[in-house]
Amino acid sequence: MSNHYAITMPQLSDTMTEGVLVTWEKQAGDKVERGDIVATVETDKAIMDVEVFKAGYLAGPLAEIGATVPVSGALGYITDTAGDVAIAAGEVVAEQAQTEMIPHHAGTPIVMPQLSDTMHEGVVVTWEKQPGDVIKRGDIVATVETDKAIMDVEVFQEGFLSGPIADVGSVVEVGHPMGFIVSDASKVNDTGVTLGADHKVSDTHKVAPHAADRPAHIPTPKASPSQISATGNMPPVPRPEGRQASPYARKVAAQLGVNLVGLAGTGPSGVIVAADVARARPSMQQVAHSLPQVDVPGQGRAMSSMEKAVSHAMTASLTLPTFNVTVNINTAALTAAAKAKKVSVTVAIAKACSVAMAKFPRMNWAYQPVDKLVERANHDFGVAVMSNDGGLVVPILHGIEKKPLDALQSDWTGLVERARVRKLAPSEYANPTFTISNMGMLGVSHFTAIPTPGISAILAISANGPQGTPFTITGDHRVLNGADVALYLVALKQTIEAPEAWLNTEGGAVAASVAAPATTSAPAVSPIPEGNWDFPVVVVGGGPGGEDCARDLADHGIKVMMVNNEPFPGGECLWRGCIPSKAWRAAADVIRNRPHDAEMGVDGTNTPKLNWAQAEKHRRWVQSSRGEMALKADKGMKIDVREGYGEFVDAHTLKITPVEGEPYQLTFGAAVIATGAPAFVPPIPGARENLATGGVVTSDTIWNLANPPKKLGIIGGGVIGVEMAQIFRDFGTEVLMLERNERILAEIEDEIGKVLIASLEKEITVVTGADIKEVSGKPGAMKLRYANKEGAESTFECEIILVAAGKRPDTSRLGLDKVNVELDGAAIKVNTRGQTSAPHIYAVGDVIGGYMLAHTAATQGRVAADNMLGHASEYDQDKDCGVTFSRPQAGFVGLSVAQAKAKGIDAVEAKMPMSIDAKAMITGETEGMIKLVADKATGRIIGVHYLADHTDTLIGIGVMMVAGEMTLTQVAKAIFPHPTQTELFGELARRLLNRLRRTAKK
Ligand SMILES: Cc1cc2nc3c(=O)[nH]c(=O)nc-3n(C[C@H](O)[C@H](O)[C@H](O)COP(=O)(O)OP(=O)(O)OC[C@H]3O[C@@H](n4cnc5c(N)ncnc54)[C@H](O)[C@@H]3O)c2cc1C
Repeated sequence: MSNHYAITMPQLSDTMTEGVLVTWEKQAGDKVERGDIVATVETDKAIMDVEVFKAGYLAGPLAEIGATVPVSGALGYITDTAGDVAIAAGEVVAEQAQTEMIPHHAGTPIVMPQLSDTMHEGVVVTWEKQPGDVIKRGDIVATVETDKAIMDVEVFQEGFLSGPIADVGSVVEVGHPMGFIVSDASKVNDTGVTLGADHKVSDTHKVAPHAADRPAHIPTPKASPSQISATGNMPPVPRPEGRQASPYARKVAAQLGVNLVGLAGTGPSGVIVAADVARARPSMQQVAHSLPQVDVPGQGRAMSSMEKAVSHAMTASLTLPTFNVTVNINTAALTAAAKAKKVSVTVAIAKACSVAMAKFPRMNWAYQPVDKLVERANHDFGVAVMSNDGGLVVPILHGIEKKPLDALQSDWTGLVERARVRKLAPSEYANPTFTISNMGMLGVSHFTAIPTPGISAILAISANGPQGTPFTITGDHRVLNGADVALYLVALKQTIEAPEAWLNTEGGAVAASVAAPATTSAPAVSPIPEGNWDFPVVVVGGGPGGEDCARDLADHGIKVMMVNNEPFPGGECLWRGCIPSKAWRAAADVIRNRPHDAEMGVDGTNTPKLNWAQAEKHRRWVQSSRGEMALKADKGMKIDVREGYGEFVDAHTLKITPVEGEPYQLTFGAAVIATGAPAFVPPIPGARENLATGGVVTSDTIWNLANPPKKLGIIGGGVIGVEMAQIFRDFGTEVLMLERNERILAEIEDEIGKVLIASLEKEITVVTGADIKEVSGKPGAMKLRYANKEGAESTFECEIILVAAGKRPDTSRLGLDKVNVELDGAAIKVNTRGQTSAPHIYAVGDVIGGYMLAHTAATQGRVAADNMLGHASEYDQDKDCGVTFSRPQAGFVGLSVAQAKAKGIDAVEAKMPMSIDAKAMITGETEGMIKLVADKATGRIIGVHYLADHTDTLIGIGVMMVAGEMTLTQVAKAIFPHPTQTELFGELARRLLNRLRRTAKK
């Protein structure tokens, strides 16, 4: 008796349950050898060969061509008896013939994946592998441009890349091969083809294969199916009665909601294949192309995939009967609340749209052909984002209705990053339920947006105008009527204008985790109170804070008076701070740098000599020129600048005591206090007493030295003390610095601070933990008596003593009690908008404490002005920065790892020593480092820290990265010029990214 073996339908993937027989490659009765291909079958992935591993004779009954055979079902048989064309009914089948699916003809096709319902072709953007290259499971072999994004093509098949491969730029239909994978290096086909926009081959050529370079013994990987497949997990629709339909076609039918009954099949023997299903519903492209076309003169170029998709979708939208409804909404409260919660306004608006939609679920539905409504409860909103190449991409925030704001923000951050480079996954842009387009940020006063099939409403947000921000919804009248949209917009207006009603309750945990502390939570915007005032706004103090505030107000047409008790504006920064100290530093830099000229081969410059009189002349020239320029500019802008001392008399009255003449009063609507903070002299015996003689000086009074002292005692090791210590050291002064605490430069990032201190201690004497007992003597012969931390007393004899023990606001004479402005210690208490406890009175700059820096004061001044102009604006300390003009210069932007961790951010950092930088080596400026701090969750750069020469220039890059919320990926991809120290930023970003990638794998 002969043995029979069944040839069964192999299972190629977990999802495969059946296959359709496409061809028989052998006839019944034919002799079959091991490894022969006997048939081809169509699965839900591709057409594959059926290879048998049993010798014998093919015998029937054979499955009919076009028949759908379940996995493990018999396709035919192999018998060991020649001449048997079919086994007889009821004969025993001893066992299964071992079968395996192998790629059909050229190998397993790498097909153009269908990444969205609207996609029907894609363009090959790159090949990441070449013919002959070894391919492993999960390898990215190519990237393709779809109508929405640039996508990686990942394969799950091992083998070797083989041709014909579609050249870069080829347009390949969905489901069609763009290349192949073969299991044996010797079978690699090394041809390339160019496919034109009509999907036809326009060129064939040889592609240099890599196979020749490969070792002879290449293991032959076991073939496994490619897993490039249709999207979605819907079960396939049932097979129509008496008809054959391929499994893939049934799956696609389920996705598209197509009824297979009555559908013509174009597959073998009339089998319904996926293409037939797709044809059952006209695609957007078909709709677009079926309209009458108007002739347009000129030489047109082919549209890119993305341009085509937009064109098709927009034309297909003509099938929607639409109407528009607009409402003006005041977004200030939501904007402020979003900032306080550290989420983007976009995310907050999307959430507000979802909250308002709870009562109007129809807004989230869609019309489905024919005459059906898809009632959706999931709020998956598409939000338009501009991609880096200028196109609009619409990533989807999923599950808005159930996610708390912080989770949405974290989703959004990643989406935006990928959207900008058009690297969204299909699930991230396909099938939104509602869409938001915010062109307000581009300044447009009004626009409408176009909904496309699949949604019933799109929201267009324009720029803030006198009536508020126009929110316009364009709705599909088949789903929504005018009243639906009008009522929804009114609900949305209420939701956005009173965010506290839902922001603090939504998601529970959100409210607890990101709610701002009481002192910084911002009340509603308080524009300038109306009244018959002498001035709508008065500004007290003409330093960087007051001056920038007054200028911004004047720029917006507000009548503003600025009183300053000095002849020229500029404040401490210009007259006693930043500017004079940096003028000295500039001279000191020249002296310090010259001895290094010799290293670079320049002799004769190593004995520079300070010309004090000229240095002082230069410094004073800079100061007086800038003071005059500032006053001229202020007056030119129509700021009423007055010299005098201002103090409050009541809530809307200011008294000014001029230098000459009688005090007078004027009334105001709103006021800004920008009075700064003078140097603080601690109660050390003899310190305050010697201020008058000039034996003790502060940063306020050091500017009248006849000559640099030969010996200088400095009390205080903060930034000002250290800057002064190094300046005078470079001028030739012997410096002793005494610090009460265990460490000087306490405010500087830990590692940067330690390295700088080590450097500093080589130049000057620093005593920490010092107990200063007494200051005595007279100018030129001062004595500084102190004990070190062991208690051993010493006396330092010097010409003068600089007290640099910090700055402290002095508001004792401002009359704050008359206006109910509260203090927090010595500083004025404000919220992040700069509002004091009296909402119409703002305070900015050094007088409110925090970072006492000129640009901080100026920023806060502009924030206050913005709020008085009716815009909710806030000062964000987490994006502030500063430079210590030491040598090398220290600098910070944003947060250190320690600061970030204290805020609950999972932060990571990478650092690079300046010593590895080419330019730094060339110029001999190798001391120090740069550090990049990033938020691990989002990849956003949240801090940059410096110890380097030229930090004052390099810091601008860090400022832009942190202010612009750039990600490591963006910086890693940015091109920095060589040889410059800026290259380190790219290196740092790449290093940190790699580290995150490595640790993520573990
Ligand atoms: C030595 C030194 C170096 C510095 N270096 C830097 C640096 O490199 N970078 C940096 O960013 N910052 C630096 N600063 C800090 C910087 O000077 C201050 O942070 C900045 O000037 C603060 O600006 P402000 O507007 O708050 O106050 P101020 O600049 O102090 O201005 C306040 C003004 O108000 C006037 N005023 C006070 N009370 C009244 C009143 N009742 N009526 C009318 N007018 C009044 C004052 O006379 C003054 O003109 C330095 C400071 C010092 C001391």
